[in-house]
Amino acid sequence: MTEPTGTEITPALEMRGITKRYPGVVANDGISLEVRPGEIHALLGENGAGKTTLMNVLYGLARPDEGEILLDGKPIRIAGPSDAIARGINMVHQHFMLVPVLSVADNILLGEETMANRIFLDRKEAHRRIVELGRRFGFEIDPEAKVGSLSVGWQQRVEILKALYRNARILVLDEPTAVLTPQETEEIFAVLRRLATEGHSIVFISHKLYEVLEVADRITVIRRGRVVGQRLPSETNEDDLAELMVGREVQLTVDRGISHPGAPVLRVTGLEAKDDRGHPAVRGVDLEVRAGEILGIAGVAGNGQDELVESIIGLRHPTAGTVTLAGTDVTGHSPRDMNEAAVAYVPADRHRFGLIKSFSLADNLVLTSYYRPPYAHGVLRNGDAIQKDAISAVERFDIRTPSPTVAAGTLSGGNQQKAVVAREFDRDLKLLVLDQPTRGLDVGSIEFIHRQVIAKRDAGTAVLLVSAELDEVLEMSDRIGVMFGGRIVAVVDGRTADKNEVGLLMATGGTERGAAAPVEAAS
Ligand code: ATP
Repeated sequence: MTEPTGTEITPALEMRGITKRYPGVVANDGISLEVRPGEIHALLGENGAGKTTLMNVLYGLARPDEGEILLDGKPIRIAGPSDAIARGINMVHQHFMLVPVLSVADNILLGEETMANRIFLDRKEAHRRIVELGRRFGFEIDPEAKVGSLSVGWQQRVEILKALYRNARILVLDEPTAVLTPQETEEIFAVLRRLATEGHSIVFISHKLYEVLEVADRITVIRRGRVVGQRLPSETNEDDLAELMVGREVQLTVDRGISHPGAPVLRVTGLEAKDDRGHPAVRGVDLEVRAGEILGIAGVAGNGQDELVESIIGLRHPTAGTVTLAGTDVTGHSPRDMNEAAVAYVPADRHRFGLIKSFSLADNLVLTSYYRPPYAHGVLRNGDAIQKDAISAVERFDIRTPSPTVAAGTLSGGNQQKAVVAREFDRDLKLLVLDQPTRGLDVGSIEFIHRQVIAKRDAGTAVLLVSAELDEVLEMSDRIGVMFGGRIVAVVDGRTADKNEVGLLMATGGTERGAAAPVEAAS
């Protein structure tokens, strides 16, 4: 391990020997981290390694059991988030904390009245500052625009502006690119580089190794609560980082092997559905997935993919069209009916549909089967069977938890996702519907889940895979449908598909090609 030196520079932020224990787990075990002025410092670690905990300690959300924090070389005690903000430490959250119905300016100023400027808030001056700050960091923003009408990439900029408006010097970004397109990611990186050039210090948390290598000045890797290495991007690569993170060699690309498609399992014809605001989101989709094949749906997030999946799975009522499962019409059937028909679903938003955070992990693992034997006999619940199977699932799916009895909400984000996957994959399936199955997962877990998906396919399950990660769709799919503006605009062969071509179709809808390659032609 190379330890880059540089002790002559006083770090803007130093965390020394931070230990944080939760019942049954040492989330941070003597972690030390130093971030220099003007540095983009990446924090890498597998799911449950302790990254969020460390940042919660920094933000005053969790009190460390041991260790100290120094700002510009001086020890400080952080009482809570407002204290952290007052000291120039800010977080840009992964699940945005903005209010969609308010304007950019209102969101940025929210809470300001109670902070610096108790009575008068000079809005004109505030608007001027917001526009000026945006320009300084390379973008033009309209302070009157409603946040809800902005793309996620722009909402992210608003979050960053909010931090800068409060004179943040240290910015923590927890997986900022998880929901961004490659183009938006580049734009945010440009903003981060400008921030660093102006002397801001950035802690960047990401599971995407190529991004870390591209944007970071230094990389600290933690595993199971401890620092296991530090690297400069110039002296490492994705394989090295993956191995350091996970503690073993990781196969970064899946070997999908050859598929042997059988009879059609899922057939969708002329499907139409509306989004939550009542606007048409799915506009006449036809598709077919056969037994033993993976149909990937590529598309920029927000092009109707979630609504398509929800209409198939019974969570959203289609306004037109039909869904058939192995020849039976199941249009509008309930999720429970679909589940009974051997259909499994891994949702994009695990907090909304995947897990009940206050329930134990064991109960979450039987959320779709608790009423059936062996977990229940009539009205009698078999707690022993639930516990026994939970212990086995935790082991097989490598869910990091002190015990299956803990509340699911205390698991790290990635381990919550593994719990959903464990529940949904653990039986014979006709159809497996996956919506962003590896979002927020570390490389080791992605490798594991991809292998499980391929195994399901090879066992004859029809798999519908929706992912905003183009690489994931390209690597996994036997066929790829590109979704744009609520329509499948093209279907291409997954093995010969060209990344740039699919990327272009995702961005533009490629009307000509869409017409030339209708679904029927490729299926
Ligand atoms: P991910 O990449 O999956 O988000 P992470 O590196 O951010 O993971 P943390 O969320 O910091 O990991 O979790 C570290 C460990 O601490 C995990 O085992 C988690 O279950 C545990 N943990 C975190 N917060 C709590 C809490 N409030 N109560 C109990 N245990 C917790």
